Amino acid sequence: NDVLPDLLRRSAERFPDRVALTFLGAKTTYRELWSGVQHFAAALQRLGVRPGERVSVMLPNCPQFVVAFYGALLAGATVVNTSPLYTPHELEHQLTDSGSETLILLDAFYPRYSQIAAGVPVQRVIVTGIQDALPFPKNVLYPLKARREGSWVGVKTGGSVYSFTALGRGQPLTPQAVTVRPDDVALLQYTGGTTGVPKGAMLTHRNLVANAEQARAWMTGLREGQEVTLAAIPFFHVYGMTVAMNLSVLIGATIALVPNARDIKMVLSQIAASGATLFPGVPTLYNAINHHADTPRYDLTTIRACISGSAPLLLETARQFRQITGGANLVEGYGLTEASPITHTNPIFGDQREGSIGLPMPGVDAFVADANGGRLPPGEIGELWVAGPNVMKGYWQRPDETAKTMREQGGQSWLLTGDMAVMDDDGYFRIVDRKKELIIASGYNIYPREVEEVLSAHPAVLEAAAVGVPDEYRGESVHAVVVLKPGATATPAEIIAHCKVELSAYKVPRSVEFRPELPKTAVGKVLRRQLAAEAREARQ
Ligand code: ATP
Repeated sequence: NDVLPDLLRRSAERFPDRVALTFLGAKTTYRELWSGVQHFAAALQRLGVRPGERVSVMLPNCPQFVVAFYGALLAGATVVNTSPLYTPHELEHQLTDSGSETLILLDAFYPRYSQIAAGVPVQRVIVTGIQDALPFPKNVLYPLKARREGSWVGVKTGGSVYSFTALGRGQPLTPQAVTVRPDDVALLQYTGGTTGVPKGAMLTHRNLVANAEQARAWMTGLREGQEVTLAAIPFFHVYGMTVAMNLSVLIGATIALVPNARDIKMVLSQIAASGATLFPGVPTLYNAINHHADTPRYDLTTIRACISGSAPLLLETARQFRQITGGANLVEGYGLTEASPITHTNPIFGDQREGSIGLPMPGVDAFVADANGGRLPPGEIGELWVAGPNVMKGYWQRPDETAKTMREQGGQSWLLTGDMAVMDDDGYFRIVDRKKELIIASGYNIYPREVEEVLSAHPAVLEAAAVGVPDEYRGESVHAVVVLKPGATATPAEIIAHCKVELSAYKVPRSVEFRPELPKTAVGKVLRRQLAAEAREARQ
C-alpha cells in the first residue's frame, strides 16, 4: 500500500549517503534528495497548491525534475508530464485539458508558454534553468544567470512567476502531512500523439509503484544500493519515468541524468563517467550508439542489463550492442502508457527469445483476443489484451475513450492494447504490429514491421519505415522511407530488388524514398503516421 514518495523516503533511510543523482558533475545523495523533496513540497503548499490539484512539469532529465515530481506528489498533487518538445498549441491543449494550476518549467521553454499564457488555467509558474543544478563554475558558464533569475520573478500575464532556486533557499521546510491513497491519481500521462488527439491516462500511485516493483521482481540479479542507472530516456514519458527513475529510487540506485538523449556523445561520456550498470533505452538509441564514430573511444563494459522498449528491437541491433559492451544483456520488453507502461519483458537472466516481447510480468494477465474478446489459441493473430495492478484507471475526463479501451470481463478490468500479437505454445508473446498501422493492399494485410525488418537487413540501410499510400489498383501499397548508413549508397531499384528476394510480391514496396533521418517521437519512435501523410501529400 505504498505511495510513490514512500519509495524515496525508504531509500533515503536505507542508503542516506549513497549518491542518488549525478548531473554533469553535480552529485546529490539520497538524504539530500529526500530533504530537497520535502522542502519543495512544503514550498508548493505555501504557494497554495492543494491535494488533487494538477501540477504540470515541463523539464528534461535534470535534478529539478526528480525534486518537482516527488515534491508535488508529497504535497498530494497530481503531476502532469509535459513534453519539452510541445509547440505552444500542444502545450495550451494539455494545460487546459488537465486543468493545471501550476506549471514548473525550464527557463528556455518560457517563451513558448508566454505565447499561450493568457488562455490557460495556470495560476503559478515556477521557472528553473539547467545551470541551477550545476556546481561551480556555473556562473562562469552562464554569466547571464543572475540577471535572468531576477527578471523571471514577479507577476506577469498568466500567473505569478517564481524562481525554483529561490523557493529552495532558506531553512529546510517540512510539508504538512496530507493523506495520499494508493488509488489517488499520481500522474496524468498524455498519449495518442502518434495516433490521434492526446488524452490523459490516469495512472495511480498503485499503478506506478506496482510497475516499478514488477520490474524489480522480473530483473532478478539487481543489487539494491549498488546499481547505477543511465537515465537518458526522458522521464516526461512514462517508460523513462518508471524504468529509469522510479525503479532506480526503489532499489537505491544512482541515477546518472542525461538531459538530451539525442546527443549521443553526451550519452557515451555519461555511461563511462558514471560507470552505468543499467541502461534502459529504445531501439533507435542503441542503434545510434552502435553506429556512432566515437563509440569505440568509451568504456561501455560496466553495463550489465538493458531493457529495450517502446518499439520493436531488431535482432541485429541487439547483437551489435552486446558486442560493443562486452556482453550486456539487452532484452526486449513491451508496454504502453496505459499500463504504466511495462506489461511484458524477456527475462533478463533467463530464456530470452529474439523477436519476442517475452512473458507477461508478475501480476500481469495477458491473452490474444478475437474480435469478441474470446481467447485465441497459440499461433493465431489477434489483439493483445492485458490486465494487472499497473493498468490505468481510465482516461482523464474521457469516459467515451475509456469505454472503447477498457473492458470488464471475467471479474477483471482489461486494457485493449491496439496491438496485434501472437502467443507461442509456451506463453511467449510476439507483437505483429499496431492494429491502426496495418497496410491493406489488394485485400491482403501487410504488417509494416515485417517489411521494415527486410529493409533494415540491406547492408546500406541504417533504418527504415514502411507506410501505406493510396494506390489506384490495390487500394493501398507499400512506400518505404529509408535512411542510409553514413557513406553508403543505394538506389530505389536495388532496395526493391532486395525486398523481392525476401517478401511476397504484394508486400514489396512500390516506391522508395531516401531521407537523412526519420521523424521520431521524444522516445525515438518512428512517426509512421506523419510519414504516411507526407507521402500521400507528395503524390497529390
Ligand atoms: P499512441 O500515440 O497511439 O498513444 P504512443 O507511441 O504515443 O502511441 P505509447 O504508450 O508511448 O504510445 O506506446 C505504446 C505502443 O508502443 C504500444 O502500443 C506498441 O504499439 C508500441 N510498442 C511498445 N513496445 C514495443 C515492442 N517491444 N515491440 C513493438 N511495439 C512496441
